[in-house]
This record gives sequence, C-alpha cells and structure tokens, in this order.
Amino acid sequence: MAEAQAFVTLATTDAYSMGCIVVGKSLRRHETSRKLVVMVSPSVSRAARLALEDVFDEVVVVDVLDSRDKAHLTLLRRPELGVTFTKLHCWTLTQYSKCVFLDADTLVLCNVDELFEYEELSAAPDPGWPDCFNSGVFVFRPSLNTHNQILEHAAQYGSFDGGDQGVLNTFFSDWAVKDIRKHLPFVYNLTAGAVYTYLPAFQQYGHHAKIVHFLGGTKPWHLSYDPQAANESSFRHSSDNFEQFINLWWVEYYSKRHLDVK
Ligand code: UDP
Ligand code: MN
Repeated sequence: MAEAQAFVTLATTDAYSMGCIVVGKSLRRHETSRKLVVMVSPSVSRAARLALEDVFDEVVVVDVLDSRDKAHLTLLRRPELGVTFTKLHCWTLTQYSKCVFLDADTLVLCNVDELFEYEELSAAPDPGWPDCFNSGVFVFRPSLNTHNQILEHAAQYGSFDGGDQGVLNTFFSDWAVKDIRKHLPFVYNLTAGAVYTYLPAFQQYGHHAKIVHFLGGTKPWHLSYDPQAANESSFRHSSDNFEQFINLWWVEYYSKRHLDVK
C-alpha cells in the first residue's frame, strides 16, 4: 500500500507548462513536505519538460494513444474530451496513496499541506454554479479501479460542459449534498470572477486566500509583464484588486530561489 502523497498538475502545451512551473515553485516556496508531480503529454517540448524537471520530483508523460481498453477507445472517439482524458490520468498515479490536483493556472500563496487531511473527492464550489465543484483544485485517491470507472462514465455520458469538470461532477454526483467535509473552503480556489461579482467579500476575506485560480480564457502567461512597471503605475494604480495576483504569478515565474530544497 502506497504511503506517499503528492501534489499533481498537468500540461499538454508549452504555454500551460509555464503555469505548472509557477504551481511547482509556489508550492516549494511555501515548503510543502509532499512530492510534486507534473503530467505532460508528448506534445510538450523537450525544453519545457527539462524546465519542469528542475522543479518537480516527477515528470510523468501520459500518452493517450498507449491505452487499449474499451473505455479508452470509446473516449478517443470523443476528441472534444481530449484534454479531459489527460487530466483523468491522475487517478493512475498509484505510487501515491492520496493526491491534491492543482490546475496549471493556479498560484499557491501559503503552505496548503493540510489539504491532505481531506478525503476523495474534496473540492471547492464553482462560483458559476455552487452546487458543482470546481475541478481546478481537488483531493483524490489514485486507483486504477476508480480511473476505469470514471473513463467508462465519461465514455457513456460525455461531459455536460465539454471538460473534466462536467465528467467529475456527474461521477461524484452527491458532492453537493452528501458530506460537507468534502467542501473545501473557497479560499483554496479563489477565482477572479468571484472577486468581481462580490467585491465586498473579497475586501473582507481576500487576505485569507490560499490558492488563486486564473480560471477562464485569459491566463497570466498571456499578459505581458514588465518588472519595472510592476512597481509603478499599472499595478499600483489599478482598481482591479485581482491584478496583484497576476503580478505575483510573474514574480514566481522568474524566481530563482527555493529550487535547491528539492
Ligand atoms: N490543460 C492543458 N492544456 C490545455 C487545456 C488545459 O494542459 O490545452 C490543463 C491545465 O492543467 C489546465 C487544466 O487542464 O489548468 C484545466 O484547463 P483550464 O485551466 O484552461 O480551464 P479553466 O480553469 O479556465 O476552466
Ligand atoms: Mn483552470
């Protein structure tokens, strides 16, 4: 029985692997005691993979085409679920007994090792539909059995939102009502949209944020960063409170420290 525990993230492109670098560095900055694993698809370049190896304990290449069983093949006929399929590979990491998955577009602001006290499947509410959990941050237990069940479920029912979140919410369908202990506090998956829709709450509780999630089409790596400007007008004079986290993302991306502790 595996005892080890790990944070897991995913990149299928070089752009998303920039995000993974920040996930890994921010976890190390806050001195996690757990292993760091990144899953990459073969489409990620060798250069990007080498950069990930500097930060992560394990870089696992997951190849969709390697799989042969029926559920995999049925899924392969649903190309729209391609990236989803890759994310679900996290359940095959059975060298770990428990893991926390973090999207590549998250930034860790403090030590969050206490997440391992939660059980599968624990996640925070999605700000758009709070009876669904957001699949950018979740606690799970690797198991080939569960992996197969989720793939079969995905092959049969598809995904109501075209992504992994739809699949996982219909698979772990009692999350909203069954066990409140599997509801992670919102501060473990703080999204920009929530800040705009409930600014007073962000002003009251925003400093408790533990993990920021850059959900949506615009990712930090799409936005240009000028280290000098960061100290001057654009960030300080911004009325956009969330923008400070984009600045912090870039600071983490370029940070050099904390890699020695691996
Ligand atoms: N992802 C990826 N390549 C893609 C799209 C997504 O590797 O082309 C991974 C990555 O880890 C990403 C996660 O899947 O963080 C979920 O996608 P995204 O964060 O873009 O969705 P959102 O959180 O904005 O709904
Ligand atoms: Mn995301």
